[in-house]
Amino acid sequence: MTLVSASREVAIIGAGPAGATLAYELLQGGLKPLILDKAVFPRIKVCAGGLTIKALKFLPPDLGPVLENEINRVQLSFNLGRTFTKTSHQPLLYTVERQRFDAILMDRVRQAGGEFGEGERLEAITPGPGDLSTLATSRRLITVRVIVGADGARSRVARSAGLQPVDFWHLGLQMEVPRNLMGKSASEFTRTIYLDMGTMAHGYAWVFPRGEVLLIGVGGPVHQGPQLKRYHARLLSHLGLGEQSFPLAAHLIPHRVTPRPIMRGGVLLVGDAAGLADFWTGEGIFSALHSARLAARQILRFFRGEAGALTDYQARVDREIAPELKASYQFSRLFAGIGSLAFRCLERYDYPWEVFCRVMRGDRSFEEIKKRFRPDILFRKLLVKSARNRPIA
Ligand SMILES: Cc1cc2nc3c(=O)[nH]c(=O)nc-3n(C[C@H](O)[C@H](O)[C@H](O)COP(=O)(O)OP(=O)(O)OC[C@H]3O[C@@H](n4cnc5c(N)ncnc54)[C@H](O)[C@@H]3O)c2cc1C
Repeated sequence: MTLVSASREVAIIGAGPAGATLAYELLQGGLKPLILDKAVFPRIKVCAGGLTIKALKFLPPDLGPVLENEINRVQLSFNLGRTFTKTSHQPLLYTVERQRFDAILMDRVRQAGGEFGEGERLEAITPGPGDLSTLATSRRLITVRVIVGADGARSRVARSAGLQPVDFWHLGLQMEVPRNLMGKSASEFTRTIYLDMGTMAHGYAWVFPRGEVLLIGVGGPVHQGPQLKRYHARLLSHLGLGEQSFPLAAHLIPHRVTPRPIMRGGVLLVGDAAGLADFWTGEGIFSALHSARLAARQILRFFRGEAGALTDYQARVDREIAPELKASYQFSRLFAGIGSLAFRCLERYDYPWEVFCRVMRGDRSFEEIKKRFRPDILFRKLLVKSARNRPIA
C-alpha cells in the first residue's frame, strides 16, 4: 500500500445511487467531498433496475438515454398458478441497466468537479486525531471530519463505526435471460412486469424486461436460501425456461424497520448501508436517493456552523423515511398472513390496484393508507377469514 496522507472535510464511501446523489448535492452546496468506490466504473450491480416514478422525482431530468422499458402493466400470479393482469393509464416505473445508470450519476459528479477515487477500497476507520477520523484505504490514509457510508448492504463503514442498522436480511437471486429464448410470449414483457406471490411467506418472484433481456429473480428471507433457489428453478420452469442455464447472481437486501442507530459521531449511513430497502417491494433506490438528500442537507448545515445538524440526520430519516418502510413491512406481513385472500382481493377489486399505482408514482404512501385502514386490525380480522379460505391450487 502506498501511504499518502490527505485531509478532507467529507468522505463518501460507495458511489452507488446514494453516494453519487449525496456527492452531487454537496458539490452544489459548495463542499468538495471525496468519493471512493472499491469498483472501477462502470461496474456491475445485481438489481432488477426498476426505477419507480417516485424515485425519478429525485433524479436529473436528462436520464432519457438510460431509461429502457416504460412499465404500466403488472401481471400477478399466486403460487405460480392463477394469474391476472392490471393496467395503469400512466407509467409506474422504468427499467434501467444499473451499470449505465450508476455510471451516468457519477459522470454528473465528475462534471460538477467531484474527486472520485475509483478502485479504492475502504479498509478501516479509526477515531482521531482530535474530532477527526482516519480512513485507511487500499491506497492511502485520509483524515476527515465527516464520513458517509454509502457502501451498500454489507457496509464496512457501519461495521467500523459499530453500527448495526439492519433488522431483517433478504436475499435476492437473479438471472439475466435473453428475451428471444421465451419465443412469442416474450412480447408480453415489454411494458409489463410479472410478480408472483404466495409461494413462500415473505418471498416473491419477478420478471422485469430491460431491452433485449429479462431479469428473472426471487427474493426472500436470507435464512431460506435453499428454498429460494428451488423457487427460482420452479419460476424458470413456469416460464418455459427450465432447460436454460445462466449464471444466478445473489445479493443481500437490508431492511431496517425499527429506529436502530444510523449515525455515530461524524459517521452517517445512507441507502442500503442504513438498511433502507423496502421490505415488501424490495425497492431500495428510492430510499437511497431520499436519504442521500437528507444527509446532504444536514452535512451542509453542519459545515455552515449549525450545532446538532449531523445528529438531526437520524431524526429526519426516522420522520421522513422510516414510517413508510415500517408501514410497508406491516402490509407485507398482512399479505403474507392472508395469502390467497389478498390475491383474490387484488384480482377482483380495482381499488387496491389504484392505490398501488399511486404509491409507485409517489402520489400516495403506505403510511397514509395504514393510518386509514390500520393493518394490525385488518390483519387479525382477515386471518380469521383466511383460516376458512382454501389456498388456490
Ligand atoms: C436482486 C435485487 C434486485 C433489486 N431490484 C431493485 C429494483 O428493481 N428497484 C430498486 O429500487 N431497488 C432494487 N434493489 C435494491 C437496490 O439495488 C439497492 O437498494 C440500491 O442499489 C442501494 O443503493 P446504494 O447506493 O445504497 O448502494 P449500492 O448501489 O449497493 O452501492 C454501494 C457501492 O459501495 C461500494 N463499496 C462497497 N464496499 C466498499 C468499500 N469497502 N470501499 C469502497 N467502496 C465500497 C460498492 O462497490 C458499490 O458501488 C434490488 C436488489 C437486489 C439484490
